[in-house]
Amino acid sequence: MVQTKRVLVIYTGGTFGMLKNEKGGRQQAAGRQAGSRQVAGRQVAGRQVAVLVSQKNIEEVIRLLPQLHDVDHWTKTMAGTDMKDYLVLPDGKDTEVKVLYKIHEYDELKDSSDFTLDDWIKMARDIKRFYHDYDGFVVLHGTDTMAYGASILSFMLEVVGKTVVLTGAQIPIFQPRSDANSNFHCAMLIAATQHIPEVTVFFGCKLFRGTRVKKVSNTRIYAFDSPNFPPLLEAKTTLDVDPKMLIHPPESVPNECRLHDKLSQKVYVLKVAPTITPKVLRAVFDNMEGVVLETYGNGNMPIKRRDIYQEIERAVKNNVLVVNVTQCINGTVLGKAIYETGLLLVECGVVPGFDMTSEAVLAKLSYVLTKTELSYQQKVELMKTNIRGELYNPQR
Ligand code: ASP
Repeated sequence: MVQTKRVLVIYTGGTFGMLKNEKGGRQQAAGRQAGSRQVAGRQVAGRQVAVLVSQKNIEEVIRLLPQLHDVDHWTKTMAGTDMKDYLVLPDGKDTEVKVLYKIHEYDELKDSSDFTLDDWIKMARDIKRFYHDYDGFVVLHGTDTMAYGASILSFMLEVVGKTVVLTGAQIPIFQPRSDANSNFHCAMLIAATQHIPEVTVFFGCKLFRGTRVKKVSNTRIYAFDSPNFPPLLEAKTTLDVDPKMLIHPPESVPNECRLHDKLSQKVYVLKVAPTITPKVLRAVFDNMEGVVLETYGNGNMPIKRRDIYQEIERAVKNNVLVVNVTQCINGTVLGKAIYETGLLLVECGVVPGFDMTSEAVLAKLSYVLTKTELSYQQKVELMKTNIRGELYNPQR
């Protein structure tokens, strides 16, 4: 017996649907241009420059792709009915499920580098708005800030009983060697057939936890990794998640969407580098309520320069939530220092970020800082507590 599942695709922009467009206009209807490649012309400083821009009406393109839409099934069973707006994922050997999907395209498609917190609030609200109409959700998102987006959505969606998958592409869908088809197809199958009640990212051939993922390459098809946590799923001949990998046993998560739709703008990431000055620190600390401090190695910074340390100490005294994470791709910053160069940060009340990514800490700070019912100390405790699978704290 074939089951039918419905997936909502929220199309926000990104390389997935970009084209170099000769006309130079932004967001032209892509229409029947699938497969064609045109050279872009945008005036930049008086020169014609070829750049990728988002194309509207991605649905028209996807309807022409046999790997992503079963036009025969649609014509026989859906055309002319109230299901005509849906597309149909072609059947694979690996599923007994018929996946029907709708594309909800944003009016303004964006390169994800242009996203602000408001864009992710809109996505989270849309997931909540359509929660009961669909069995799963796929968000087509540019890769540049996908790690931020996945973390932010993870924190905002305090409870989400259905699978949410972010995906995108390194090569636009219009190009023959594009990774868009396989990323999209796998993300759709996962959203429709796997019960993963959390926010995830599918890319390359792996599914990652939203709060653990990082963009690690701007050229490789395998653009993402989660260096401190194993992938939730690897696409093989089948696509099956091990429920033990998930934050909660899936059956324990209520089938509902609980949303915290406030985020603080007053958060930033500050990287310690040999040329750091007190003025740089002060400029950030004086304007922010939460700061991700990316330090060297195990959580170290220059200590011979007291003026640097004093700025950090002053910020903590002023109740800025400063969280220490490592600049290394992999590793952890613990609550006790290993080197003398890490000791002062522990002593002055900088919060250890453990094995969280910078992206996850920024997102968590932005979320936690809007919990007005919590005291500063309670916010500190929350930052050290695993709430969305974002960290491992060995002391808990
Ligand atoms: N600049 C693009 C974006 O983030 C990159 C991509 O999607 O791969 O929207």
